[in-house]
Amino acid sequence: MTGMVYLVGAGPWDPGLLTLRGQSLLGCADTVVYDYLCNPAHLVHAHPDTELIAVGRGKSRLTQGEINDLLVERGLQGEVVVRLKGGDPFVFGRGGEEAEALVAAGVPFEVVPGVTAAIAGAAFAGIPVTHRGFGPTLGLCTGHRADDPQGDVNFAALAGLATVVFYMGARNLGAISEGLIAAGRDPQTPVALVRWATRPDQHTVITTLADAEAAFVRHELAPPVTVIVGEVVSLRDKIRWFEHKPLHGRRIAVTRSPEQQGPLAERFAALGAEVLSMPTIDFAPPREPARVQAAVAGLGEYDWVLFTSTNAVDAFLDAIQAAGRDARAFGRAAIACVGSATAKRLRGRGLVPDLIPKAFVAEAFLAALPEDLTGRRVLLPRAEVARELLPDTLRARGAQVDVVPVYRTVAPAVDPGTRGRLARGEVDLLTFTASSTVTQFVAQFSPAELAALQANAVAACIGPVATQTAEAAGFRVVAEATPHTIPGLVDAVVGWAAAGPAP
Ligand code: SAH
Repeated sequence: MTGMVYLVGAGPWDPGLLTLRGQSLLGCADTVVYDYLCNPAHLVHAHPDTELIAVGRGKSRLTQGEINDLLVERGLQGEVVVRLKGGDPFVFGRGGEEAEALVAAGVPFEVVPGVTAAIAGAAFAGIPVTHRGFGPTLGLCTGHRADDPQGDVNFAALAGLATVVFYMGARNLGAISEGLIAAGRDPQTPVALVRWATRPDQHTVITTLADAEAAFVRHELAPPVTVIVGEVVSLRDKIRWFEHKPLHGRRIAVTRSPEQQGPLAERFAALGAEVLSMPTIDFAPPREPARVQAAVAGLGEYDWVLFTSTNAVDAFLDAIQAAGRDARAFGRAAIACVGSATAKRLRGRGLVPDLIPKAFVAEAFLAALPEDLTGRRVLLPRAEVARELLPDTLRARGAQVDVVPVYRTVAPAVDPGTRGRLARGEVDLLTFTASSTVTQFVAQFSPAELAALQANAVAACIGPVATQTAEAAGFRVVAEATPHTIPGLVDAVVGWAAAGPAP
């Protein structure tokens, strides 16, 4: 059976600019063949069993002929192949050549357009590529062969267009300017150089045709750069938006448990930061699953079930489900929990807690429970290692307490790429949401790595205890949350960014 090859545009970089069609195809591909202008973050949409082949850069670089052969071969083997290309596959992407090879070999294919760099780069630089006030034409051109006197770039034709966007023009800016000026374009025509458009570290330089090459060198730019030539560039002064985000250009490492990381990381990303997620703790199943199963089987015998964390809720309710049972397994047992997050998780899973103390610490919890628990049976599903205050006090009140470990905290698997960037000091700020995250974070690095990191990066903490631990570990703490909450921490970081020099 012959397979199917999808030539899919990945868009410029921002993960949100992949099309829905592209995303769903990634989920059913046997093989994904991608290049270096594609954001690897798109690959999370691929099935875990999908073979991922990088063909873009360095050692793994294949020639166009080899890429064509690879697509044909996989297609003939019956595979569903997603050929993921930066931007749009048919705009200076050689997707046309790949399609020709597939046609020649009789391999069926489809094309999924993507947001091309010219359009995205201009939009994210605050430049409308066309505007009624500035003329009716837009040209796209490759700058690749602009310096070739025998080349096929017709500058006379381009000079008459309102806006021209050059791809692959970084190395040939001098020739592009010369060509356009010689063809009659005003040397003072504004030019935007947009490097890594749509990435959090997008860098835009505004210059003129006459100065473009010198500006490129002065600002130490390097490919990939999209070059926008035309009066529309002047609209950026008014319309610029992406680079005005409060945390644009900041590289922030978020250190939390994986399940807690989402909201904080998302908030920082929405404010324009590049976010590196550095988990400091992970969760694993308990060592004695039989004890959990026994607790589930005997659940109806308890008077109270106490939950002290969202993890405990999930682990225990998962175990109930795995046993083929549902909420009725709780029978007459009353449910109590510490913390609003734990209560919310219980409600999310269809259980309404009977008791939630006002203050969210074990001491307040104990104060809220009845003084006399003589003969009462209490189940405490929790982490393998935890404070004994709760069970000890309940036993002292006469209760018969079963402590059942339903999960375990373990050292996290840290992505080597993220770890490497942190160790090399490629981060501006770290956030700590608990004293323990400081300790767990520091334990992941050698003293030399920590010194490199601390030379560049400052810290923001959720409260005074975390600050104290961070300072003792050698961090310069520049922001502390008031109130000591996640939104408070985000506000404190935004305040720090606004007060300091631009990145
Ligand atoms: N098919 C792609 C273009 C590939 S050619 C598309 O439709 O966008 C490669 C050139 O595209 C680069 O040299 C650069 O000029 C431009 N480019 C691609 N991604 C870019 C990005 N994120 N930022 C700026 N320019 C980019």
